[in-house]
Amino acid sequence: MSKINTNICPVCGGKRFRSFLTCKDHYVSGEQFEISECEGCGLKITNNIEPEENADRYYQSENYISHSNTSKGFINLIYHQIRRYMLGRKRRLIERLSKRKSGSLLDIGTGTGFFLNEMANHGWKVTGTEKSESAREFAREKFNIYINTPSDINSFNGKQFNIITLWHVLEHIYNLNEYMEQLVRLMKDDGFLIIAVPNSTSFDARFYKKFWAAYDVPRHIWHFSPEQVKLLGEKHGLKLNGIKKMPFDAFYISILSERYRGTKMPFIRGVVTGKTAWFLSLFDHRKSSSLIFIFKKP
Ligand SMILES: [Zn+2]
Repeated sequence: MSKINTNICPVCGGKRFRSFLTCKDHYVSGEQFEISECEGCGLKITNNIEPEENADRYYQSENYISHSNTSKGFINLIYHQIRRYMLGRKRRLIERLSKRKSGSLLDIGTGTGFFLNEMANHGWKVTGTEKSESAREFAREKFNIYINTPSDINSFNGKQFNIITLWHVLEHIYNLNEYMEQLVRLMKDDGFLIIAVPNSTSFDARFYKKFWAAYDVPRHIWHFSPEQVKLLGEKHGLKLNGIKKMPFDAFYISILSERYRGTKMPFIRGVVTGKTAWFLSLFDHRKSSSLIFIFKKP
C-alpha cells in the first residue's frame, strides 16, 4: 500500500509546499519523517505517512501514555498528576463557557475515558469515540462507560450535542475536512466545539526545533498555528469564540524534548525551559505550548 503525501492543503487549498524539518519518531519506530509547510497558509504537514488502516503500529508502544494508564517512571507519574488537575480544569472551562452544569457532550478520541468519567460524575450525558479497542475496553471496565468507534458518529443524529471536545486529537485525524463537517453537523445550533492542539508557534516549538516532542511524527499529521485553526473552523462555517492557553503542557513537552535530544538531566533542563515557555505564554498566547480553541455556530 502506498504512503500518503498531502498535495492539497486541507486548510487553505494551497498546492505549493516547501520543506520545513525532518523529525525522528522517538516514541515507537525510530523512523525519520519530513514535515513540509504550505506556502499559502503555513500549515505544517507530516509527509510520507502510512494510510490510516496501516498506521496502528505507530501507536504500539508502552510509552504511548496518551492512551495508557501505567504509572511507571517519573515522567509518567507527573503526567498523571497533571492529568488529574487538567480534568477538573477542562470541566470547569466547559461549565463556564456553556453556562451549564449538565448537557450532552461528545468527546472525540477519548482514550481510556478519564475525561468522560469526570464529566459523567458531574451530571453530563456523555458520548465518546476511540479507535483503540483496548482503550475502549478499559473505559468500559473501569468506568462502566461504553465508547463508540470513530466511524459510529456517521450514524448519529444531527444537532444533538451541547459540547463537542477534541483534546489533542485533531492533529491525528486523516480526513480533516470530512471530520470537521461531521462535527459541525452534530453540534446544536448554540453548541460549542472545543479543540485543543499543540501550538507550532510556541516558545518550546521554536526552541527545540526538530526535537520538539509535540511534532510526534508520524502520529501528528498536522502541526497548527492559531491562524490555521481559526481558518479551518471558518471554512466550516464556525466562528472562533475564544482561545485558552494550556500552560502545563510546556513542562511535559520540554522534559520529553530534552530526552529526545539526549541531554543529561532532561528533567531539570526541561523544567527550566518549560518555566520560561510558561512565563512567556502568560503575555502572548502564541507562545503557549498548547492552545484550546472555542468555536460556535454564528
Ligand atoms: Zn495552506
